[in-house]
Amino acid sequence: MIPSHTKQNNRLSKRVQAIKPSGIRRFFDLASKMDNIISLGVGEPDFVTPWHTREASISSLERGFTAYSANAGLMELRQEISYYMEERFSVQYDPETEVLVTVGASEGIDIGMRAILDEGDEVIVVEPSFVSYAPLVEMAGGVPVSVGTSIEHDFKVTASAIEEAITDKTKAIMLCFPNNPTGSTLNREELNELVNVIEKHDLIVFSDEIYAELTYDHKHVSFAALPGMKNRTILIQGFSKAFAMTGWRLGFVLAPPDLLAAMLKIHQYSLMCAPTMAQFGALEALRQGLDEVERMKQSYKQRRNFVVKSFAEIGLTCHRPEGAFYAFPSIEKTGLTSEAFAEKLLMEERVAVVPGSVFGQGGEGHIRCSYATSMDHLEQAIERIDALLQRLK
Ligand code: PMP
Repeated sequence: MIPSHTKQNNRLSKRVQAIKPSGIRRFFDLASKMDNIISLGVGEPDFVTPWHTREASISSLERGFTAYSANAGLMELRQEISYYMEERFSVQYDPETEVLVTVGASEGIDIGMRAILDEGDEVIVVEPSFVSYAPLVEMAGGVPVSVGTSIEHDFKVTASAIEEAITDKTKAIMLCFPNNPTGSTLNREELNELVNVIEKHDLIVFSDEIYAELTYDHKHVSFAALPGMKNRTILIQGFSKAFAMTGWRLGFVLAPPDLLAAMLKIHQYSLMCAPTMAQFGALEALRQGLDEVERMKQSYKQRRNFVVKSFAEIGLTCHRPEGAFYAFPSIEKTGLTSEAFAEKLLMEERVAVVPGSVFGQGGEGHIRCSYATSMDHLEQAIERIDALLQRLK
């Protein structure tokens, strides 16, 4: 029952009302009602979590570890994360004060924004980007400011583009490499070029490196590993992608102690802790699972190579994605918007992709194709895309 003095239109906060629903959902809802669909739409691994990881979680339940963990996560897991990050990415984080286990990387982004933003603070979001960034900035009271990238520069952001977007309200910048949706990443040299502008304007950097392990052509360099950057970086990481654990809802955030303490404050009031049984699985994944990560990575790489070659063969311009599991070809030559193209492809050829426009500035004119699906599906999808392109000629 709504009390009589409450007007219906006051039920929702202005902040939430201002947020647009995700553009991805509409396509999935359409696709889920159709048969014989090949989906290149979803952004998740096609592997099931390796058995020993599942078993470790099951075993923790059998042994009765069903209580809350420490708010920041199991100490053993934080220690393992700290060890893993140093081994793999040469960054050092103290498990006591600089590591927080979160409910997915998503929570890390959310509490990071809420920890640093006051009303009206601006966050530069380099786009095309993961669809959650701008809404999470807004929900924390901030203002997202887009900086677009383009296929001409392999979707890499430049220091001058960032500098142009900076105002006296700019507090932070959101980077993601390897990137969703473009698959583009930044090497050490390209990252170093951003350091000066970030220091000059005293910005906090959100570095979403959830796809770090899925970097195909060179070794991933963490933003926090760059000289002087650790103290201004909120490093977002997680188990969903490389460890094939999307449904476990487990990630972690690494940050200097003052920022981490603020995030922990929010986390402990809103969530208490990440699920304990998932944490036991993650512990096993870090201890024994890196060979499988490598095996899955090689499999994605093979599919990446196939997709890039195939797009070229059917005449679609596509930069070579260096990481993650997405290709972002241009469909500009068809004269259709990305949304119209994706809708036609779904209705006429039964292939689900995501229109580039939903990923913000620089996304229009492209479609996001996740290649985390079987080779058989990929081959059929390419044939079907080609059939549509032939008809559109
Ligand atoms: N960041 C990026 C770039 C992503 O693509 C995703 C998932 N699509 C996330 C964060 C969220 O990951 P999680 O499942 O760990 O919340």
